[in-house]
Amino acid sequence: MREDTIFGKIIRREIPADIVYEDDVCLAFRDVTPQAPTHVLVIPKKPIPKLADATAEDKELLGHLLLTVKQVAEQLGIAPEGYRVVINTGSNGGQTVFHLHLHLLGGRSLQWPPG
Ligand code: 5GP
Repeated sequence: MREDTIFGKIIRREIPADIVYEDDVCLAFRDVTPQAPTHVLVIPKKPIPKLADATAEDKELLGHLLLTVKQVAEQLGIAPEGYRVVINTGSNGGQTVFHLHLHLLGGRSLQWPPG
């Protein structure tokens, strides 16, 4: 079944994105409103709306997404200084696009705790 979020449109190349990595399972592209000098979103091609909807069947996929974040951080040169990986989940988590995505943020020192 086709899903209709903005990220589904990016996967299907119906709208443009600055794609930095792609394989059979996932896609990584720069966030349109970057919150850090490097801000990339890593998304599965499988349309899981949010982390809370993932199941045991997605175990390998979730591991793949994390390892992809690591690889993209190395590719973009932010790994030596460190970076942050964020998954906003549901409305209290601040999620606005309901297609699971991992934010990769780096290139500056990040504050903690988040707002
Ligand atoms: P969320 O708030 O759901 O965790 O994050 C959604 C992210 O998607 C936001 O950081 C937002 O800037 C980004 N975003 C929303 N629409 C687009 C788009 O059309 N293209 C790209 N590249 N990023 C988008």
